[in-house]
Amino acid sequence: MNVHEFQAKQLFAQFGVPVPRGKEITSPEAAAAWASELNTPVFVVKAQIHAGGRGKAGGVKITKEKGAVAGIAKELIGKTLITHQTGPKGRKVHRLLLEEGANIAKELYLSILVDRDTGWPTFIASTEGGMEIEEVAEKTPEKIIKEAIDPAVGFQGHNGRNVAFALGLQAMEPAVINPFVQMLGNLYRLFMEKHAALVEINPLIITKEKTLVALDGKVSFDDNGVFKHDDVQKMRDLNEEDPLEIEATANNLNYVKLDGNIGCMVNGAGLAMATMDVIKLAGSEPANFLDVGGGATKDTVAAGFRILLKDPNVKGIFINIFGGIVRCERIAHGVIEAAKEVKITVPLVVRLQGTNADEGRKLLAESGLKLEVANDLWEAAQKIVKLTGKAA
Ligand code: ADP
Ligand code: MG
Repeated sequence: MNVHEFQAKQLFAQFGVPVPRGKEITSPEAAAAWASELNTPVFVVKAQIHAGGRGKAGGVKITKEKGAVAGIAKELIGKTLITHQTGPKGRKVHRLLLEEGANIAKELYLSILVDRDTGWPTFIASTEGGMEIEEVAEKTPEKIIKEAIDPAVGFQGHNGRNVAFALGLQAMEPAVINPFVQMLGNLYRLFMEKHAALVEINPLIITKEKTLVALDGKVSFDDNGVFKHDDVQKMRDLNEEDPLEIEATANNLNYVKLDGNIGCMVNGAGLAMATMDVIKLAGSEPANFLDVGGGATKDTVAAGFRILLKDPNVKGIFINIFGGIVRCERIAHGVIEAAKEVKITVPLVVRLQGTNADEGRKLLAESGLKLEVANDLWEAAQKIVKLTGKAA
C-alpha cells in the first residue's frame, strides 16, 4: 500500500526526520489561508498523487508571491498529471501539499528497503539526488551506496557513518554528518515499526543553512502488515487505487489487473502464475491475476466474473481449477449459477482437473452455456488464445 508525500512527511516528522513546514490542502481557499499562516519567503505547491516525476510534469510549483498561491492551487486541483510513473492516462490531482521553500545547497538520494538477495533491510544512498535512481543505477552504478543492516542487531552508529563517508559528507558539509547518522537510525525505526516495504527520500537536501531536510517522501507498506497499524490504514486513498482491485479485495479475491486480453479465474496462487505463463507461451497475454482461493463458492465465482467483465480489455475468460480441497462438480455448479447471474459476453474456456473432474465437466457440457471444456492445461490455453486472437 502506498501513501501520499504529505502522509510520508507526517510519519517522518513523527520519527524525528526533519521536513519542511507544510499542510495538505484540497481547495484554493484553504491554500490561501494556509499561505497566510505559513508566512515564508518562498511557497511550494505540490500535487499529491501516488507517482513520482511530478516536478518535470508541472506538478511542483514555486512562488514568492503569497497572493499567487490560491491561483496555483486552483490550476492544479482537478488537473490530470502525466508523469513517467503514471502511464499515458495520467492521474487526477485531488489534493496538494503547500509547504515552505527550502534553500537547496545539495540534493542527495536516500532510501531503505529489504534487499531480496540478503533478506536484510538495506539503505541505498547516492550523491545523485533529485534524479531517477534507476537511471543512476544503470548508467553510473558506482554512485550507488548500499549498507545492509543485520536485523538481529539493529541499526548501529557505524552503519550510518559508513553511508555518510561513502557519500563524501565530510568534504561536502561536515556539520551534517551527525544529524545524518541520527536520521538513518530514525528511518530504520520507522521502516521496522510500521512494517514498511520502502521508505524513500529523493531528494534529501543539505540546505544553505547546513541542515538536512527531507524534501520529498515516499513510503510503501507491506500489505500483510497494514492491519496492525490503524494510523496507516487511515492513510489509504482509494482515489489512487484501481477500482477493480478495490472490488476484488471487498470480495476476498486476490486480483491484480494486467494489460493483456485473457481474463483468468484460477484457484491457488501457484496455479494462477502457471496459467499466466501458459497463456504467454500460447502467444497471448493475461488480463489479470485472479486467485479465487481454495474454497471457491458460487458467490466468489460470480464476483470473479463481474470483475473480469468490467475490464474492457477482456476478450475471453479462461477458468482453470484444480479440485483438491474443493470438488470440481461444486465449481461447475458455481460457474453455471454465476453465469445465470452475470451475462458472459465473451468466449469461455473451462479446464477442470482433480476430484470429481469428470462429473464437473459433464455438468458444464450439459449446462447449455456457451463454453468450451478442456481436460488439459496446454490444450485449454491454446483454445482460449485461438478464440480471442493474438494480443494487441
Ligand atoms: P517529484 O519527485 O515527484 O518530481 P519532488 O518532491 O522530488 O517531486 O520535487 C521535485 C523538485 O522540486 C525537487 O527535486 C526540488 O528541486 C524541488 N522542490 C520540491 N519541494 C521543494 C521545496 N519545499 N523547496 C524547494 N524546492 C523544492
Ligand atoms: Mg522526488
